[in-house]
Amino acid sequence: VRTQVVVIGAGPAGLVLANALQQAGIDCVVAERETRRHVVNRARAGMLEHRTVELLRGLGLADGLLAKGSRRSSCEFRWDDRRVVLRYGELTGGREHHVYPQQHLVADLLDAFTAHGGTVLFSHPAVALSAGTVTLWPPRAVAPIDIGCDFVAGCDGFHGISRRTLHEHVGLHERSYPFGWVTALIQPPGGTDEVVYALHPNGFAGRMPRTATTSRCYLQCATADQVRDWPDERVRDELGRRLGEALPVRAEIAEKSVMRLRSSMVGGMTHANVALLGDAAHLVTPAGAKGMNLAVQDAVALADGLRVHYREGLRDPLPRYGRERLDKAWLAQEFSHWMLDLISGPEPGDPFARNLRLARVRRLLESRSFATAFARTYVGM
Ligand SMILES: Cc1cc2nc3c(=O)[nH]c(=O)nc-3n(C[C@H](O)[C@H](O)[C@H](O)COP(=O)(O)OP(=O)(O)OC[C@H]3O[C@@H](n4cnc5c(N)ncnc54)[C@H](O)[C@@H]3O)c2cc1C
Repeated sequence: VRTQVVVIGAGPAGLVLANALQQAGIDCVVAERETRRHVVNRARAGMLEHRTVELLRGLGLADGLLAKGSRRSSCEFRWDDRRVVLRYGELTGGREHHVYPQQHLVADLLDAFTAHGGTVLFSHPAVALSAGTVTLWPPRAVAPIDIGCDFVAGCDGFHGISRRTLHEHVGLHERSYPFGWVTALIQPPGGTDEVVYALHPNGFAGRMPRTATTSRCYLQCATADQVRDWPDERVRDELGRRLGEALPVRAEIAEKSVMRLRSSMVGGMTHANVALLGDAAHLVTPAGAKGMNLAVQDAVALADGLRVHYREGLRDPLPRYGRERLDKAWLAQEFSHWMLDLISGPEPGDPFARNLRLARVRRLLESRSFATAFARTYVGM
């Protein structure tokens, strides 16, 4: 079996790439380890930057999110008894975030690709890859199959085989943080209007809208904490305490997990004919909501490079893709790292650290030039 591009992974990066290649008349096959059902139910991100939406719209892939998603152009910071709203849309000429759950976007991308004859091999994990061949293990097969190709697009996330295979060639720079975040989907009282960042003496709490009735919540916790340390009652109490709003006892709490916060960046995003995209190349913490956006933007950039390669004979399209996207990913990484440090730290209970953090937040909210710089990066300009 042979194709022009094998895409490993049917997340946002892989599926945007597959759609863009299909539209450019470039043959590709998507290989995904999980089932379709698993992929379209995996709730994760939900904040799409203005630029990401424009890219998706340009590919005709934004109809679902424009019809069913919502928009946000402000976020609220809370500490002590203060609640201050930062209207970043007003500082960026009306740019805003679109709120649309990642799993809904993934479902739309799958539908668009398969409606035009695209092939996604579900339950086909990639088990080996080289510059010209990807080896897949089909379900219930006794032996793997090889697919030959011109290019391999490693879109299989941080734990996938692509990054691990390229690791020894391109290297990896990592940072882990001395605290974690408990995260869960909840139904907060009074709808899910604002994005909220609360800086409480017990640690950070955050709430990001996902659908009309559901928000993803985050609670800073100790690195050693396990999900069993955070029964629903404790999550509900602590969210209520840190956000300053009581959650109804019956508010449903779903998909609870403890995130070990870390950032990682590959030293290079390409090697030979293999390109890394999205989380396979760069992992950012949820602070700043950059991960899914980077994944989509990588995919559009790689598709552009491959289109010029096949149409106009541009040789070696990957190095340029790798250089440009790595620079962009470091900018997003820097913002995410800065934002994490703004809202969350290892020292709940340390008044010096807390007051420094609050002074930074006040400067952000009180200085128009500081707020404008924040707003532009936050919304992805
Ligand atoms: C709880 C949580 C909240 C988040 N919140 C935000 C947010 O608000 N905003 C934001 O922008 N980002 C957020 N993110 C990050 C965002 O979800 C990721 O950055 C995004 O999913 C990256 O997309 P991707 O396509 O690169 O990788 P993934 O979505 O991880 O997709 C990789 C795919 O590859 C498949 N795969 C893995 N190994 C193999 C293999 N060997 N063979 C074949 N297939 C394989 C996987 O099953 C998966 O389908 C959040 C993440 C989490 C976990």
